[in-house]
Amino acid sequence: MSPLSSVVVAGIGAPLVVIGIAALAGFAFGATWAIVVLVVGLCALASVHLWQLDRLAKWADAEADAPVPEGSGAWGVALSALYRRVRSRNLRHLDLATTIERFRSAVEALPDGMVIIDNANRIRWANARAQAHLGIDLDKDTGQPLQNFVRQPEVVRYLEVGDFADGVVFDSLREIGTTLAIQVVPFGIEERLLISRNITQLEAVARMRRDFIANVSHELKTPLTVVSGFLETLQDLELEPRQRARYLGLMAEQAKSMQRLVDDLLTLSALESDQNTLTEAEFDVVPLLLQVSADAKVLSAGRHVVALDIADPAMVIGSRDELGSAFGNLVSNAIRYTPDGGAITLAWHIDEDGRGVFGVTDSGIGIAPEHVPRLTERFYRVDRSRSRETGGTGLGLAIVKHVLLRHQAELDVMSELGKGSTFSVLLPARRVRRASANAPSDNATSPRPDPERESGSAPAHSSVSASSPSATNN
Ligand code: ADP
Repeated sequence: MSPLSSVVVAGIGAPLVVIGIAALAGFAFGATWAIVVLVVGLCALASVHLWQLDRLAKWADAEADAPVPEGSGAWGVALSALYRRVRSRNLRHLDLATTIERFRSAVEALPDGMVIIDNANRIRWANARAQAHLGIDLDKDTGQPLQNFVRQPEVVRYLEVGDFADGVVFDSLREIGTTLAIQVVPFGIEERLLISRNITQLEAVARMRRDFIANVSHELKTPLTVVSGFLETLQDLELEPRQRARYLGLMAEQAKSMQRLVDDLLTLSALESDQNTLTEAEFDVVPLLLQVSADAKVLSAGRHVVALDIADPAMVIGSRDELGSAFGNLVSNAIRYTPDGGAITLAWHIDEDGRGVFGVTDSGIGIAPEHVPRLTERFYRVDRSRSRETGGTGLGLAIVKHVLLRHQAELDVMSELGKGSTFSVLLPARRVRRASANAPSDNATSPRPDPERESGSAPAHSSVSASSPSATNN
């Protein structure tokens, strides 16, 4: 049934009743009474309609969410239809508002900044991240030109030239050391979407990669130049056998240093490779320590007093080869940076927290405090020529750091210029199990390392752990 017919059906009753009563009054009391009843009845009906119309007009004038008035008869039918329409419109609005809110939350959650600007680069809207990147306060800055907030010439030029095929990269003036990239994407008729991104980390990685390539090239350049120089000499000149042998010896030395560099680079890249998962096996630390100590003595060739002190025999879970290489690097450094006649002590114990501690203490040249935090960076050397002369590649401690990161271990460095250093590896307690065997020691009188030493001034101290933010970058 159509709404019109329902309204007619619902509304016809009242006029019929008035007409019926008027007809009865006419039969009973004459035509005059019939007219009187009819007029009174129609007036009452008209008043009811006027009253309903008034309520409807007031509703239309009220707040948008005011409830639709209720009614009876024909008005009831019409107002119910109106109520249903209003309700379905409200539901649609709610749906739309929820969708808009969802989009807004999604845009707020984006890791990038978003700014909607008009053709004249005036700000219309920005998410929280863009406000933080560019220093916009949406409440007061809506309508302001974006150039008021990003004044770097390259950005101003980018916005004004209007060629948005590429983005632009610039250093933030608000947060020194932060690099931002922005890209404008035109949309709609006269609007643009500006996307801002903090690329500080990416830039740092790119810079590191560039530095790394420059360092490797530089490291290879010197030995290559020496080798090719000698080769030319050998080709061009008739040399005495002794001189020829000397040149060949020097070339072999340079070749060895290149070999060491390439070996260390391969070790580092293997340690960094995602495919190279850690071999977790339990091994006895004592034979490893004895091996490292024996290697140290060979390397020192009697130039130092090398002592080994094992306080707590233990089983260790991890990669024996990797830990052996890390321990070996520390020991080789101690020997290389300790003048002849110095003392080197290798010590192993389990500390009060259950951690396995391998310490290498030397009485060598020591390290000034400002260098200590950077020692594990690739190619960082305090004294480049001393490192080279002693066969260093500048990668030893970087390798140590990566091995320790893979074992969730820490490197602790204490050093004092001119007095010596202690490099300690701290293996987490869950990787160490105390073994009951008697502690073998190849030097019963060896002193326990004394980290504080006798000096009054505090030694430089630093540690590298798996949680170090820069750890994976170097
Ligand atoms: P290198 O091959 O140059 O020894 P490493 O990464 O092993 O490279 O060490 C980095 C730098 O740390 C060395 O060049 C040296 O200056 C310093 N260093 C490392 N160990 C010691 C130590 N035991 N005593 C003094 N300086 C050290």
